[in-house]
Amino acid sequence: MADDKSMLDKILDHNREFVDSKEYDNLCTDKYPNKEIAILTCMDARIVELLPKAMGIRNGDAKIIKNAGALISHPWGAVMRSLLVAALEFNVKEIMVVGHTDCGMRGFDPEHLLDKARKFGITDGTIQTLRNAGIDLDGWLRGFDNVADSVRFTVDKIRNHPLMPGRVVVHGLVIHPTTGKLHTVVNGYVENINLLDEEREKSVEGKS
Ligand SMILES: [Zn+2]
Repeated sequence: MADDKSMLDKILDHNREFVDSKEYDNLCTDKYPNKEIAILTCMDARIVELLPKAMGIRNGDAKIIKNAGALISHPWGAVMRSLLVAALEFNVKEIMVVGHTDCGMRGFDPEHLLDKARKFGITDGTIQTLRNAGIDLDGWLRGFDNVADSVRFTVDKIRNHPLMPGRVVVHGLVIHPTTGKLHTVVNGYVENINLLDEEREKSVEGKS
C-alpha cells in the first residue's frame, strides 16, 4: 500500500517519474548564476517556493544559501565561505541577506534547545564537557531579538569580511512568510538604512 511507503521511497518514486518524463528539460542551466546574485536566507519551509517566486528567481538565477535565521554565526564558518566562493569564483556581484518576520530564530533561547537535547538523551555531562572545552554553546545557538537588526548585523559582517571584495554590493531585506512582500532594510547601493514599519511606529511613539 502506498501509505506504508517510507518518505525516502516516496521521494525516490517521484524522482523516477521526474527523470523519466524529462521534467528537468526546462530547468537546464549552468553553475554561474544568471543574475549574478547570491541570497542568504532562512531554512523556513514556508519560503521554499515563496521566496524565489516573490523575488522573481528562477532555476539558474542565483546561489541560495540557507540556514536557521539567515545568520552568519562565525566569520570563518560554512556560510561565509559559501558567500566568498560565490563572489570570488562564480561572478556574484550582489549579495542579498533575506530574513523574514515570524522567524523561529527570533527570541530563540539556547537553553531551550539544550533542554530538548537532554530530552533526547544527551546528558548534562556531555553539555558540561563541551562548555569546559571552551565551546560557547549559548553564543553558537543564540537567535536574534529583532529580524531587521539581525539582517543589518549580517550585512555588516559580509561587507566587512577581510576576504570579501569591496565591489560586491550587499543588501538586506525582510520577507513576509505568507505574502512574500519584501521590505528593504539595507539598500547596498546607497548604504541606506530603512526602518521596518513597526520600528518606524515605535520611533514616532518615542518622539511624541
Ligand atoms: Zn526563519
